[in-house]
Amino acid sequence: MKEIHCGEFIAGCPHISRGRTVEELMTSVRKHARDAHGMKEIDEDLEGELLKAIKER
Ligand SMILES: [Zn+2]
Repeated sequence: MKEIHCGEFIAGCPHISRGRTVEELMTSVRKHARDAHGMKEIDEDLEGELLKAIKER
């Protein structure tokens, strides 16, 4: 399972996005960013940072 801890990007957010594949994980991250943080889009720079922050569980 792949994880991205939102708190590494948005201080104080306890949310952890999970997915079996990078694609699934990024879909989950985009949804959380939009629903919880009002971010309509994740630009390429941020996406690069997110990909680097993926943890394998
Ligand atoms: Zn968050």
